[in-house]
Amino acid sequence: MPGFELWGAEERKEVNELLETGVLMRYGFDAQRRGIWKAKELEQAIAETIGSKYAQLTSSGTSALTTALAALGIGTGDEVIMPAFTFVASFEAILSTGAVPVLTDIDETLTLDPAAVRQAITPKTKCIMPVHMCGSMADMDSLTVISRQHNLILLEDACQSFGASYKGKHLGTIGDAGTFSFDFVKTITCGEGGAVVTNDEDIYIKCDGYSDHGHDHKGSDRGADLHPFIGYNYRISELHAAVGLAQIKKLQGFLAIQRKNHAHLKEALSQIPEISFRKIPDAEGDSCTFLSWFLPTEKLTADVAEEMKQQGILSGNFYWYNNNWHYIRKWDHLKNQSALNNLNDAQKQALQKLQHTSFEASDAIMSRCISTAISLLWTEEQLEEKADKMVSAIKTVLEKNFVIAG
Ligand SMILES: *Cc1c(COP(=O)(O)O)cnc(C)c1O
Repeated sequence: MPGFELWGAEERKEVNELLETGVLMRYGFDAQRRGIWKAKELEQAIAETIGSKYAQLTSSGTSALTTALAALGIGTGDEVIMPAFTFVASFEAILSTGAVPVLTDIDETLTLDPAAVRQAITPKTKCIMPVHMCGSMADMDSLTVISRQHNLILLEDACQSFGASYKGKHLGTIGDAGTFSFDFVKTITCGEGGAVVTNDEDIYIKCDGYSDHGHDHKGSDRGADLHPFIGYNYRISELHAAVGLAQIKKLQGFLAIQRKNHAHLKEALSQIPEISFRKIPDAEGDSCTFLSWFLPTEKLTADVAEEMKQQGILSGNFYWYNNNWHYIRKWDHLKNQSALNNLNDAQKQALQKLQHTSFEASDAIMSRCISTAISLLWTEEQLEEKADKMVSAIKTVLEKNFVIAG
């Protein structure tokens, strides 16, 4: 799954080329940089790869989300609908703009349930933010219809799904804007980094300025730049961009390996009739970074996770329901409004309410779900062995439970 697994000569070459000039900043220093613009080159490569008009690199996926939200005009008083299963960065970015994250139930796509989204809409809703979790996608047709009917912005958090697509369009390019993360464990990595992509020139220009102190970037003298609006420093460095440039050239290779390993593992698990799989709205577009599967009950799933732990094969298998980072159940710091600075009243009220909100529908899915990370490094034998061991652990638990139940 993560690009760091296939680190090599290509990355070293890009970085070394940059070290020759020593210009580690993406803007300015035109004479010293001898024509080397790694960040610009990577932005162009991202746009070409996914078929978007514009790409703006940032220092992280989190700052890409913050930048996109700001460029879309989302802030204090606005509500953003986001899924209850995601990485914490999704609500962090929303809170940082002053807006209210409205946590909403997921369905078996492991992201926003369109019916739950309809119910979550209020007069304050400004944006729907599906998160394309674990390399696969939301039901974008339904979410697009809802966003048009209610005149809402559609922002795709595609941080985990670079290279995945839906009905021929790359994830991130379907809504008003999309974001990617290139942190160390994502599909391709810069070490740290992120990007906002959009087909809208106005949104792009705002992202470009917002991520660099509001600079208009119109001339070649940074000191003479104007500042049409307030921005921050969410710039990526040339060093990080250089790594990403080597990685993006390997993307198609990564995807091919993932799809092959994913298919093999899925076939092995399919032999167990009690197992079902995540709903994938467009299976061809799945980037296959993970295989997500369900057991019939919470107890069986918890027992399988425990059995895999006992057998030393839990590593790479994520039982998100019990994990502190990805699911509302364990986000006590959010529910307790444990912020260092003062949140606004609307935010406080919304987070307070989360303490008593039921996420029964999401619980019923997440408590039965395990996602297996697909490695780029597995040999045929290792993959075979992994599949056999997983099948055996699952069967052991099913047999035990069957005996007790019978
Ligand atoms: C990784 C991730 C982010 C944030 O990316 P960083 O680069 O780590 O800041 C945002 N959303 C999702 C769903 C992610 O997985």
